[in-house]
Amino acid sequence: MTTQPTSRRARSKPNHAESSSPTNRRDVADPPAGGFLINDLCEKLGDYLDSQQIADVYRAYVFGEEAHEGQLRRSGEPYIHHPLEVARILAGMRLDAQSITAAILHDVIEDTEAAKEHLVKDFGKEVAELVDGVSNISQIKFKTKEEEQAENFRKMFLAMGRDIRVILIKLADRLHNMRTLAALVRDRQREIARETLEIYAPIANRLGMRQWYYELEDLGFMYLYPMRHRILEEAVRKRHGNRKAIVEKIRKAIIQQLSQEELEGEVTGREKNLYRIYRKMRQKCLSFDQVYDVYGYRIVVDKVDTCYRVLGVIHNLYMPIPGRFKDYIAIPKANGYQSLHTVVFGPFGVPVEIQTRTEDMHRVAEVGVGSHWLYKSGDSSDAQMPQRTLHWLKDLLDIQQKAGNPREFLENLKVDLFSDEVYVFTPKGEIKKLPQGATTIDFAYAVHTHVGNHCIGAKINHELVPSRTTLRNGNHVEVITAEWASPNPVWLDFVVTGKARAHIRNFLKNQKHEEAESLGERLLAKALQGVGFESPKIREAQKKTLLKKLE
Ligand code: MN
Repeated sequence: MTTQPTSRRARSKPNHAESSSPTNRRDVADPPAGGFLINDLCEKLGDYLDSQQIADVYRAYVFGEEAHEGQLRRSGEPYIHHPLEVARILAGMRLDAQSITAAILHDVIEDTEAAKEHLVKDFGKEVAELVDGVSNISQIKFKTKEEEQAENFRKMFLAMGRDIRVILIKLADRLHNMRTLAALVRDRQREIARETLEIYAPIANRLGMRQWYYELEDLGFMYLYPMRHRILEEAVRKRHGNRKAIVEKIRKAIIQQLSQEELEGEVTGREKNLYRIYRKMRQKCLSFDQVYDVYGYRIVVDKVDTCYRVLGVIHNLYMPIPGRFKDYIAIPKANGYQSLHTVVFGPFGVPVEIQTRTEDMHRVAEVGVGSHWLYKSGDSSDAQMPQRTLHWLKDLLDIQQKAGNPREFLENLKVDLFSDEVYVFTPKGEIKKLPQGATTIDFAYAVHTHVGNHCIGAKINHELVPSRTTLRNGNHVEVITAEWASPNPVWLDFVVTGKARAHIRNFLKNQKHEEAESLGERLLAKALQGVGFESPKIREAQKKTLLKKLE
């Protein structure tokens, strides 16, 4: 990694002018600024790209080097170092030649004179589109005002939805900027760190890219709350020795038990990142000890069948904690993650969390959607994963077209980014995945828009339930529909999926004015009855005062 940091993100004009001021220009005789880095990159690319493709990448470097000539990063190093480092991060994931080329050029439209047409001519439409997509995201300025931020999300997802590689380049860009954030002034650090924690880390998570996700989180935490970060780090350091002994003891016990049963697997202890510890302490009001004294292990084995056998051995060795077993192999998470999770009482009664998975599953867990490129030649079990992620992106785009204003879209996006999932069954035994807190109405819309729009009731495990009932894992859900029925505005109070909300709102918007009026009166009457008014009739004057208050 480079020693000193960071992007002088030449967003604003004055900044930009300053960065490319003539005093910064190097003499013609100087060696090219990115010489070492580009050689290193090309060597890496040699592992999986052909020589023509590498030549194209080099051409992009020459172009970028010239375009950024004279610009310096805040740290004082030539600007071209940054795009080259971004390309290197992506090369680690074996991203294709176009993505690597676009990564090297990712700041040229934004920060230099080089126009998009120029890129089309020199590097082809695909690369130009990628660079354009990344620039679009980069230009988004996150404001405190919610409305504007929502608009930005929208733009971001529009830019991303066209091609998932745009997100990967943007995430690598953010990762490098975070790694080199030390060079920026405190205010900017805080601003970028917050944005990283609120937007980019959750996206990396959503795409199943655990490595990037953890690193983005930890760096974000460090720059947003330096004091808290330092204190936690210190606490972890102090306890580390003691912990290590216990981790090793449990690990040995597991390995021994496995070999007795003639099972083979790689057993490793897992460490939580600092931000997870911090968040758990806050959210669940736990002390550091309570969070830290949980021991995590991962067992990687050869095949699916072995996963279940290993689980049996573990449950035989230590008593499982009821209700904590999750089978993400049979029912993978939306981002493609697969593993068996269980929590057992270890020695001295300490909780021990164990994840068991195959090597293929492990790769997907580490790099998520990236595994599509990284292990393209591997067997087809990986191939489904990006498919699921793409599905999610398509859903978001669909919502964004339906949602009338940016705030609606933001609400939907937040829900989709931050909540966990529940899995339920349709009457035909198909599995539907819904966010935590989803109701029968969300389920109805997940089945089909038509089913949602004509839903009059639902049964969970064959019993009639109120529409607002939240679904639990494993529920059998059956929707009752009638052709004459239409969405009830009250549903908006409890639905949690973006899809349901967008469709209900869309329906309500399209209702005729009079219908809306009579509906409004009915709702008002109902609300008034609820607070003890016998007769729903109120005087015009009262109505006016009321409306004014509610505006
Ligand atoms: Mn950049």
